[in-house]
Amino acid sequence: MAVKEVIRMGHPTLRLTAETMSLEEIQAPETSELIQDLFDTMQKEQGIGIAAPQINISKQIALVGLPPEVEEGEEDQGEEEDIPILVVINPKIEAIEETLQGFWEGCLSVPGLRGFVKRPRKIKANFLDASGAPQEIILEGFLATIFQHEIDHLFGKLYVDRVEDPTLLSYNEEFEKHIAGTENDPEED
Ligand code: ZN
Repeated sequence: MAVKEVIRMGHPTLRLTAETMSLEEIQAPETSELIQDLFDTMQKEQGIGIAAPQINISKQIALVGLPPEVEEGEEDQGEEEDIPILVVINPKIEAIEETLQGFWEGCLSVPGLRGFVKRPRKIKANFLDASGAPQEIILEGFLATIFQHEIDHLFGKLYVDRVEDPTLLSYNEEFEKHIAGTENDPEED
């Protein structure tokens, strides 16, 4: 068990395209340790996903939590330990619907803030799992957003890069007070 420091926006590692991993590297004991570190760090920080660059390791590996679907605009009240966690290595994503869908996103590397981001609502992803076996998954709605957010970290992108309307970037407290559930919340449309 090792909780690592989460690096924050401004740290150059978050802006690199991370290195892909070889099968040999994926199956090495160091990678099991890395996965455990990512898991421990994500749990401690109460994230639903984390990517290796966020703990300053520039490799294409991320954990993506897939919480049970919740109603739009509702906080997920589910118990975190019940959430299935995917290990995603060397991913490739393809939008299978051009329709965009917006959600308020937050990020462990951008603490205290959230922003409204539009992304393709349905995606197909190909990646390797923790054993190095190829996997394919189709995700839609909020799960597609979570997945795309984590995979962005492997390519040097942060959600703030994708906030089209800067007035829809807010501190969490102000969000709860002034935006959530009001006419300023595009999710309510
Ligand atoms: Zn993030």
